[in-house]
Amino acid sequence: MAIAANFIFYKAIVSTEPGLQTTNFFIKEGILQTTIRTEISIKGIGLHSGCDSVLNIKPAPVNSGIVFKRIDIADSPLIPATYDNVVDTRNCTCLGKNGVLVSTIEHLMAALSLSGIDNALIECNNQELPILDGSGKVFFEILQKASKVNQELSRKYLKVLKPVKFTDDKGNFVEVAPNDGKNMYVKFDIEFPSHIVGHQTFDGKISPEIFASEIAPSRTFCEKYQIEYLQSLGLIKGGSLENAVVLDDEDILNPEGFRVKNECVNHKVLDLLGDMFTSGYHILANITAYKSGHFHNNEVLKLLFADKDNYKIVDKE
Ligand SMILES: [Zn+2]
Repeated sequence: MAIAANFIFYKAIVSTEPGLQTTNFFIKEGILQTTIRTEISIKGIGLHSGCDSVLNIKPAPVNSGIVFKRIDIADSPLIPATYDNVVDTRNCTCLGKNGVLVSTIEHLMAALSLSGIDNALIECNNQELPILDGSGKVFFEILQKASKVNQELSRKYLKVLKPVKFTDDKGNFVEVAPNDGKNMYVKFDIEFPSHIVGHQTFDGKISPEIFASEIAPSRTFCEKYQIEYLQSLGLIKGGSLENAVVLDDEDILNPEGFRVKNECVNHKVLDLLGDMFTSGYHILANITAYKSGHFHNNEVLKLLFADKDNYKIVDKE
């Protein structure tokens, strides 16, 4: 079947001059909560809906976290980007409140987390966030360049105290476990029948540098046979080789090939980091994942928060 030949483009508008920049790296000692200084707009197409989508990322007060608001719906509720507002994990991470939905938040959430942005109000004119190039690269680059401002309270971290694991009926799992309490480490394994993906592993400390070079540029991916099925469900109307890696047995259909080594598992790490930020915190833990996705990420956070003995909210040590 032919891949949809849509000519997809995205346009990023940074509404402010880069100006003064503060470097707020993920998990660095003694840092304050941060928001952006002035509004940023990002425009693109939604992967599933194919609709034009505009985001306005606005400064927000200390301790407000990341909050979404639909501006195309009258009296839309504020929807905090927290695990307990996740209503659908089948094809992306989708938030909902009072029937109002915001979907495909995960790549932006990862970019916000690794840019050290704790508080932001994100207005969107559409259910679905722009897919851009299918990775977190554009979001991260825009957020890195944005002028940021420190706020009056210190950033809080979630330190995992006891191992918490969610395993599905196929044996795929995500586990969060205590570590040195200073960083997040991720070990993620995936296995696909085709040799072009095969068994891929990501294993390392999460830092803005690794995020920028290996994780953020990694695009979403699918196999060619899945496309027809997803289209039959009315999904991926905005999908093209401009915003996804498409695998066909032992081939990759994108003429440019892979962007980075182990791009597929690295994209799963991108999704994981975005989903973990729906905890509302930067998590200090060892995270081990095996063939897992948005569903597992959400379930493990529910288990984590189900028992206060599992974690402690701390300032950075
Ligand atoms: Zn993704």
